[in-house]
Amino acid sequence: MKTILMPDELTAENGAKALFIGEFHENVIMRCDHEGCEDGIVDEQVCESCDGAGDYALRVPIGWDTIKEIYKKAVEHYQPKSGKYAMQSLREKV
Ligand SMILES: [Zn+2]
Repeated sequence: MKTILMPDELTAENGAKALFIGEFHENVIMRCDHEGCEDGIVDEQVCESCDGAGDYALRVPIGWDTIKEIYKKAVEHYQPKSGKYAMQSLREKV
């Protein structure tokens, strides 16, 4: 692993917003909302909306605010102030 320089914040101005938006997704499991569907069965027939599963995965994009929060947490953890990474940072400046 090597230490690299990165901005301490993701912003539209440093190009991060355009780079990151739409790049990450999460699958959220949703209950089937087809009318009358209970665990994939509608009137004793396999539900045509969920194919009998009773739920489905919804692919949800990770929002810009959440991306910034994740990055902020990484910056807080790895910024040179104490411990191993501070020592690396000091060595690089000498
Ligand atoms: Zn269904």
